[in-house]
Amino acid sequence: MSQKKYDAIVIGSGFGGAMTAYQLVRAGMRVLMLERGDWVPRTPENWGLQGSIDLTPFYDKSSPLRVLKGGNKKTMGLYSCVGGPSVFYGGVSFRFRERDFEPNPEITGHSGAEWPLRYSDLEPYYTHAETILNISGETGADPTEPPRSAPYPQGPAPLADISRRVKKGAEHFGLRPFQLPLAINYSDGMRNGCVNCPTCDTYACAISAKNDLSVMVLPALIKDGLTLKTNAVATRLLATNGRIHAVEYADKTSGERAHFEADRVILSAGALASPQLLLASGLQAKNPGGSVIGRYLMRHVNAIVFGIFPEQADKENRFHKQLAILDYYFGYPGSSFRKLGSLQQMPTPSKGLVQQAIPGFLGKWVSQGVPLLTGLLAIAEDQPQFSNCIAIDSSQKDVFGLPQAVITHRYSKRDLAALQMLTGVAKKIMSRSGALTHYVHHIRTFSHAVGTVRMGVNPTQSALDEYCRFRGIDNLYVVDGSFMPTSAALNPSLTIAANALRVGEMIAKL
Ligand SMILES: Cc1cc2nc3c(=O)[nH]c(=O)nc-3n(C[C@H](O)[C@H](O)[C@H](O)COP(=O)(O)OP(=O)(O)OC[C@H]3O[C@@H](n4cnc5c(N)ncnc54)[C@H](O)[C@@H]3O)c2cc1C
Ligand code: SF4
Repeated sequence: MSQKKYDAIVIGSGFGGAMTAYQLVRAGMRVLMLERGDWVPRTPENWGLQGSIDLTPFYDKSSPLRVLKGGNKKTMGLYSCVGGPSVFYGGVSFRFRERDFEPNPEITGHSGAEWPLRYSDLEPYYTHAETILNISGETGADPTEPPRSAPYPQGPAPLADISRRVKKGAEHFGLRPFQLPLAINYSDGMRNGCVNCPTCDTYACAISAKNDLSVMVLPALIKDGLTLKTNAVATRLLATNGRIHAVEYADKTSGERAHFEADRVILSAGALASPQLLLASGLQAKNPGGSVIGRYLMRHVNAIVFGIFPEQADKENRFHKQLAILDYYFGYPGSSFRKLGSLQQMPTPSKGLVQQAIPGFLGKWVSQGVPLLTGLLAIAEDQPQFSNCIAIDSSQKDVFGLPQAVITHRYSKRDLAALQMLTGVAKKIMSRSGALTHYVHHIRTFSHAVGTVRMGVNPTQSALDEYCRFRGIDNLYVVDGSFMPTSAALNPSLTIAANALRVGEMIAKL
């Protein structure tokens, strides 16, 4: 058994873990980070047919999650690598809007969800996160953008021809498309710049031009003293007298089991794995809001409307995930919705992705047609529902001894109606841009999972206080996407990052 003691242990190297560690290491603390995945090697194969995340070893099936309802598979793996899914993500880096933090019964219903903070509390940390990740964007062009204290660190890249065409198609309806904020390097001459390859979302960047956490944050923290232990699966948090005194882990490669001790423990294993670990450790019994741990799982309600064009949609064969349309974020004229969602450009899918979705000869045949496609992703806000949850089944254990996580998820009628309205708009834009017809692909993964260990003011309705401290345990914080009371209708990573910088700053001052 390892006995070394740290100032803090951070579990998980994704957005929540990396940004909290950033503050603690900068404050001079001795920090150990446990990460169940490994570094993703960068070779030309990152962009190959097998490069999409679910086809790589970083879709980790060693702790299989059982899906009772919802999802795209009956058994799911976890996205595990140094930097978490940021290595494979789309890089879209939005701030939530001011009204996303305010009470809205249309979304929250009787769920008791409420944000204990406001946009203005997070604003400085959004700015800091954008700087750390060197986000590129079009300052002032987003019609629903909240106030910002600084412009984007980088301007956007020029639009591809197909993006210009889609922009014109949207403008025909009086909409105001603008360029997506992206975590991609266009301006730092000291590093590889983006070469606009046609694979990005779901692929690791072979030349590290994507500004993911394994490029922008973790190597610098290691230089400054962070101890990163890879292939280390946290299996239990051991509590005595209202404090976590040790974190047990299993080494994935050697099978060795050991524990580490620290004054503080920061749990950031993601919105699926964090509630699993809390429940497996029996910590629900210590928390007055213990009965909601694992509950209120949200994941957005998403679909891609692919326009099918008469000829190659993107003749330049280049990256074109570039546009956002947020005119209907706060509802659709004439409808009862006061909150709807966002549309974001989705590029022509890679052949590898299609072959992954449709295995065998059929997939190979269908994938020949993908150059005719380009799309718009519709993201609608989903409602927090008590019945949508991660539970554990202690009768089924994985190789590390963790009880199996079991997921149940159903969309509400409102979720589905909101999505339908947004996809209707996307179809019109695609047609106006030259598409002959459409194909709607529903996204059923849990890639935007949030909400399972939420923060709040009411101690019986939320497991975390306003600084993400786990009620009932003085030295435990949960900072991954599970802290969110509602999901908003925008990609979650920048909000998780900003909140983790806020919480990390507070922990460092204690
Ligand atoms: C393909 C894809 C594309 C995406 N694109 C975007 C996008 O464009 N914009 C956006 O905002 N969001 C995007 N997302 C979502 C975004 O990546 C997540 O919201 C975000 O990474 C969640 O951050 P987190 O801190 O909650 O946890 P994660 O980033 O998931 O980090 C959790 C980490 O904990 C580790 N871990 C899990 N269990 C254990 C354990 N027991 N012990 C030790 N370590 C453990 C995991 O390996 C992982 O590294 C995308 C996701 C995917 C999968
Ligand atoms: S589009 Fe740019 S950042 Fe994305 S994978 Fe290709 S080169 Fe890398």
